[in-house]
Amino acid sequence: MSVVSEPETEAESLNVLCAICNEFYNANDIIYSTSSCGHIFHLGCLNRWLRRSTTCPQCRAVCHRQRIHRIYLNFAARSHNDDNDVERLPIQWVPIDLSDPSVAIELDGAIQSGSTPQGYDTYVARAYYQEDLLPGGYVPQARAVFASHGCHARQLNSIVDLLILTDCEYKWETSQNGQVPTNALVAGYSELGEVLYTGRGVHQGHTILGKVHPSHRVLYMPYNDQEVSARTYEVLVVIPKEQAER
Ligand SMILES: [Zn+2]
Ligand SMILES: [Zn+2]
Repeated sequence: MSVVSEPETEAESLNVLCAICNEFYNANDIIYSTSSCGHIFHLGCLNRWLRRSTTCPQCRAVCHRQRIHRIYLNFAARSHNDDNDVERLPIQWVPIDLSDPSVAIELDGAIQSGSTPQGYDTYVARAYYQEDLLPGGYVPQARAVFASHGCHARQLNSIVDLLILTDCEYKWETSQNGQVPTNALVAGYSELGEVLYTGRGVHQGHTILGKVHPSHRVLYMPYNDQEVSARTYEVLVVIPKEQAER
């Protein structure tokens, strides 16, 4: 045990909260501002809110989905003391802006599973597309997430989330007809607000990452330019080790 010392400095950055999820912003968060009133939120939080409302969650000024824009904050390096306070969540969807070529993409803790029809490895991810948040597979060689939507495969290379696990066990559980195991990982949503899950299926001999769409009773997968479906598939289940040991 080391001797506990007084904090050397005050926090070097402001502790600013997203009013929707009540979490502090971190350096790699994707933060958006409303255009009229200027309140800021996480992109994911704001998108979910604006699917159901046309007002700012903080001040209720009129706010439409098309009237938001990204902002960039300069975060100071965290002090030694701050770092000790940071608790890494076991399950994280880490946001990445793939349109920025300077962003290095760390695959430590990412889940590799399946491939594209061309044989490139895919990693569990999800991507924003129109009103949906689509579970799919990140392909490092293409620097894009492959997902399916509206009968087409989509190659998405702007804002995506990569699943990063710390101290977790995970497994793929067989399921069918839109069903998922009770502890399946919630991965995205459809434009109607229905929850989507990460799944994988086999199509023409290839294991492909896709989305389980419960009300459609299938797993959808991107396959070349198309969206293909499977009635029988496997669903991703993640269990933090702490929870598993209880
Ligand atoms: Zn938030
Ligand atoms: Zn506002």
